[in-house]
Parts: sequence; structure tokens; C-alpha cells
Amino acid sequence: MPSYLLDNRSLINNIENMKYTAEDLSYDYNALEPFIDQQTMEIHHDKHYVGYVDKLNAALEPHPDLQDKSLEDLLKNLNDIPDSIRSAVRNNGGGALNHAMFWQLLKKDVAISGDIATAIDERFGSLSEFKAQFTDATLKVFGSGWAWLVVANGQLEIVTTANQDTPISSGQMPILGLDVWEHAYYLKYQNRRPEYIEAFFNVINWEQVNEYYNNSK
Ligand code: MN
Repeated sequence: MPSYLLDNRSLINNIENMKYTAEDLSYDYNALEPFIDQQTMEIHHDKHYVGYVDKLNAALEPHPDLQDKSLEDLLKNLNDIPDSIRSAVRNNGGGALNHAMFWQLLKKDVAISGDIATAIDERFGSLSEFKAQFTDATLKVFGSGWAWLVVANGQLEIVTTANQDTPISSGQMPILGLDVWEHAYYLKYQNRRPEYIEAFFNVINWEQVNEYYNNSK
């Protein structure tokens, strides 16, 4: 399976200082208003995401042999990670990778087009049917986790994961993800997860989804 997520993009493994780096957002914190508010983006990126990257680096510090692997490789092969740090890599490495993807998947005013549009129509019947099924799956995530559109065995599937688990660890290739930890929406939406999901559909960067989809082939 080719490395499809991280070539020439965020979370570059910086060989020089042997650390993963948290990438800045490629847009302003308020760029997704009113759907995702500025304060949520500031805390989500600067505190939660940066925290995952920092804790991942701390866990890997005694293991220089692991530091020059890509994050995607580490998470694809969790069984190869030493017992003493496997949970830390799973949780914080997953957090680092999931969020790096998530930032890139958000942009206002991008209509769906390209191969992904065709593939969604073929698999789900229509974009609105996909939206209905994705929303249903997302509402059923109990506690903290993520909902995903993945490519698995060459087919689009909607899946969910708990905590910061990534579908990559199960051999699936995520191309769209929605963070449903409360830290992702509580300031603006409190307990109203359905409104947050509805808002998300206004800020999906379908060009990026299409690129991930094409890279997954
Ligand atoms: Mn998050």
C-alpha cells in the first residue's frame, strides 16, 4: 500500500531533530466561521493537537529507531511497537495523524466534484444518502471518537473509531474524517452534536477528499 497521506504534506518527519512537528493551519482560525468557531479552532489546534504531537515525541524519545518511520507506518504496524509505548503511540500518534488530516479536510465553499463524486453516487446512491448514513454513524459514536469515510478493499465504507484510533491501523484508508470528541464542538454546540454534524457538511474540503481518494488507488 502506498503512503498516500503524508507525502509532501503535514506532519513531516523531521530527520534533523528526530521529532514529529505540528503543522500550522493553512488558513486563519476564523476561516470556518460560522460553522466552526474561532475559539474552538484555536484551542483544538494549539492545545489538543499540539499536545498529541508533544506526547508522541516524548514517548518515542527513548526509541530513535522508531523516530525515522512515518507516522502512517507506525500506526499501520502497532504490533511492532514495544509494549511499553504502544498505547502512547496509538493514542497520541493517532491523535497527531487524525488531526493533521482533519485540518486539511476543512474548507468553506468547496462543492463535491471529480472521481469522489462519482464514487459516492455509485456506492451510496446520492450525496444526500451518503450524508444521511454518515450522520447516522456519527451520532452513534458513544463518547469520544471519529467517523470516517474510508477505502477498504477498494470500496468506500463508513466506519467509526473510538478515542484516537485511526482506520489505518485496521488496514483501511481514511479519506474523510469527522472529530466527534466534545473538544471539537462543545464551545459552540454544547451537547448538540447533530447541529455540529450538519455544520461540518458546509466545510468539507471535497478537493482534498478527492485527492486522498485518488491517492488511495
Ligand atoms: Mn480533536
